[in-house]
Amino acid sequence: MGAGFADNLTRFVFERAAVRGAVVSLDAAYRDILACHPYPSGLQSLIGETLAAMCLLANSLKFSGSLILQFHGAGRLRLFVVECSAALELRATAQWEGEIAADARLTDLLGEDPESRMVITLDPKDGGPLYQGVVGREGGSVGASFEHYLAKSEQIDSRLWLRAAQGRARGVLLQRMPASSEADAATWRRAAGAVADAAFLFDAPDAHAALVGLFPTDDVRAFRPRQPRFGCSCSRPRVAAVLRLLGSGEVESILEERGSVGVDCEFCNRRYEFAPAEARALFADPSAAVVH
Ligand SMILES: [Zn+2]
Repeated sequence: MGAGFADNLTRFVFERAAVRGAVVSLDAAYRDILACHPYPSGLQSLIGETLAAMCLLANSLKFSGSLILQFHGAGRLRLFVVECSAALELRATAQWEGEIAADARLTDLLGEDPESRMVITLDPKDGGPLYQGVVGREGGSVGASFEHYLAKSEQIDSRLWLRAAQGRARGVLLQRMPASSEADAATWRRAAGAVADAAFLFDAPDAHAALVGLFPTDDVRAFRPRQPRFGCSCSRPRVAAVLRLLGSGEVESILEERGSVGVDCEFCNRRYEFAPAEARALFADPSAAVVH
């Protein structure tokens, strides 16, 4: 230890109460994502808090594939996407308009239009059905919005504390199991109070110190930590599929204008270049390509 929290997600359970949770810290993973685009600081905190929340949410689900949060709006924030895979690979992107204050609130960023909502999609990535849910704007913060989302979608009493600043993102999720007894209620109230006031966690050196600081008088069992990291699932075949969808007419006009087709991944900023012959080959009749 001593090197600090690093990228870590530690799940825990209370030994004597039907209460469970997880604590997450994102350092390099968060900074790698911020390094992809010149985000203003007001957006950096939104991205960090949402990354931490999505990690906690993805870890609490039994699924394969990806959990994706998407927002399209006409306010300061035009586009916002945060994705966390079942393996805790994270990526994010945002597009914005004009100046964004360093202390911008969620409501300032999302704009006035109540129809522009944050949608969470669970994509099993195996062709199976998508699950979708809406994250509301309750409470004016990412943490409060996700708490309401969990209360609605999982019907589990949940408390979420999030903070992101100075290239560090931290979060705690605490959940009271539906079968919990009256005797658990006092523990739940005390633990939820500690999570609501978890500001010290931002500087805690590691997950163990965070758990001891949060719940000093309880027996809490921590599970083997998992490591969230930055990872982008973009690839040349996927970009090729997008170009095929765009159509050969559109691709020809790009070739005419620029001489080649270049596509930047909006998440990781990697550039994919297609020379004229490569771009045209995407639309070639496959039967004509057979060599006899
Ligand atoms: Zn990418």
